[in-house]
Amino acid sequence: MADGSFDVVIGGGAVTGSATAWWLMRMRPGLRVLVVEPDPIYRFAATALSVASVRQQFSNPVNVQISRFGVDFIRHFADRIGPEGGVPSLGLKENGYLFLAGTAAGAALMRDLAHMQNGLGAATDVLDPAGLAALYPWMTLEDVAAGSLGRRDEGWFDNMGLLNGFRNGARALGAVYVKDRVTGLGLRGGRVETVRLESGREVAAGAFLNAAGTASAALCRMADLALPVEPRKRTVFVIDAPNARHPEAPLIIDHSGIYLRPEHGQWITATVPDDDGPCAPDDWEPDHAQFDDLIWPRLYARSEGFDAVKVARLWVGHYDYNRLDQNAVLGLWPGTANFHVAAGFSGHGLQQSPAVGRGLAELILTGAFQTLDLSPLGAARVIEGRPFLEKAIV
Ligand SMILES: Cc1cc2nc3c(=O)[nH]c(=O)nc-3n(C[C@H](O)[C@H](O)[C@H](O)COP(=O)(O)OP(=O)(O)OC[C@H]3O[C@@H](n4cnc5c(N)ncnc54)[C@H](O)[C@@H]3O)c2cc1C
Repeated sequence: MADGSFDVVIGGGAVTGSATAWWLMRMRPGLRVLVVEPDPIYRFAATALSVASVRQQFSNPVNVQISRFGVDFIRHFADRIGPEGGVPSLGLKENGYLFLAGTAAGAALMRDLAHMQNGLGAATDVLDPAGLAALYPWMTLEDVAAGSLGRRDEGWFDNMGLLNGFRNGARALGAVYVKDRVTGLGLRGGRVETVRLESGREVAAGAFLNAAGTASAALCRMADLALPVEPRKRTVFVIDAPNARHPEAPLIIDHSGIYLRPEHGQWITATVPDDDGPCAPDDWEPDHAQFDDLIWPRLYARSEGFDAVKVARLWVGHYDYNRLDQNAVLGLWPGTANFHVAAGFSGHGLQQSPAVGRGLAELILTGAFQTLDLSPLGAARVIEGRPFLEKAIV
C-alpha cells in the first residue's frame, strides 16, 4: 500500500532534479512533486564538484540553444527565481572560452562551428595566432593554428548558488524533498506505479524522473532499461603560479588535452587521462600524478609563466559519462508510459539545467516540448544505438 501519492516523483535532487522540480511547480501551482535525495549536502553530486562554467561553443545546435537559454537564466537568476531562491546573484564571470586548434583541419572545423553558433546568437570569433597574441601576449602560440573565443555569454558562475536557488524556489512553491534513496520501482504495463525508497516507504507516482547522475543507469535497470551512463573520474587541480597572473584569461581548452581557467588569483586545471574509463562509484582517490606527468608540461608549453607552480588543493568529481555519444539523454523513455530520464550530461549538465528542467517539465505536464525541442537528445537514439555525437567535449 502506497505511503503517499505524488503527481511526479524525482529520483535525484541535485541541479537537474531541482531545476525540473522548480519548473514543474512554477508551471502548475499545486502539483504534488516529491524529490528523493540521499545526500542532501551533495557531497558526491557532480553539481557540487563541477568547474561551474558555461559556454556557447558546442558542435550540436541543440546544445548551443540550451546554453543560450542557460546563460541568460544564469545572468538573471535572482529575477527568474525570485526572493524565495535566496540567491542574490550567481556572480557570472564572463571571461569567455578559448578553444585552441593545433591543425589546419581543426581551424577549419572551428570556423564552421562558429558560423553555426553565431547563427544561433552566440558571439564566437575565430582568431589567427596574431590575433590571439594581441589579446594574450603571455601565451606561446607556435603550435596553434587558430583559436575560437566566445566574446560574451561564456565564463563561470556559482554552481551551488544555482542548485540552492532552484531547490529553495521549488520548496517555496510546494515541492517536497526527502532524504531517502530510490531502491525499486513498482511497474505495471510500462507504467511506473510506485517508487520504493530505502527507508521502506513506497509512494505512488503519476510520473517518474530519473535524475540520479552517475546512479542513473542503476535506476534505469530497476525498470529493465539499459542506459549507457557510467561514472568517470576527473581530478581537478587548483594551482598557484606566481609568474602567471592573468585574471582576464578565458577558460582555455587546449588542443594538448588540458583545460585551465583563472580562479581568485589561482588557476583551476584538469585533463582527461589517456586510459579514461569507468570508475567505481566510491572511488574518490585523486590521481595526483596527473598534474606532474600530464598537466604541468602542457601548461609550461602554453606559457613560460607556469615555470613555478604549486598545487594548492585538488578535488575529485565523477562525470555521468554517456558512452554512446557524450550527450545528455532526456525525456520519456520510449515504450514506457511515464518513465523519464535526464542523465549522461558528460561534463556539461550544470549549464544545461535551466533549459533541461524547463523542457522536462513541459514534457511531463503536456506530453511535448513546448519552447525548445529537446527530442534530438531523446532515448530513442540509445535504444537504436544511433550516436548524436558532441564534438566539443571538455
Ligand atoms: C569535475 C567536473 C567538472 C564539471 N564542469 C562542468 C562545467 O564547467 N559546466 C557544466 O555545465 N557542467 C560541468 N560538469 C557537469 C555537471 O556538474 C553535471 O553534468 C551536473 O551537475 C549534473 O547534475 P545532476 O543533477 O544531473 O547530477 P548530480 O549532480 O550527479 O546529482 C545526482 C543526484 O542523484 C542522487 N542519487 C544518486 N542515487 C540516487 C538514488 N538511488 N535515489 C535518489 N537519488 C539518487 C545523488 O545523491 C545526487 O545528488 C562538471 C562535472 C564534473 C564532475
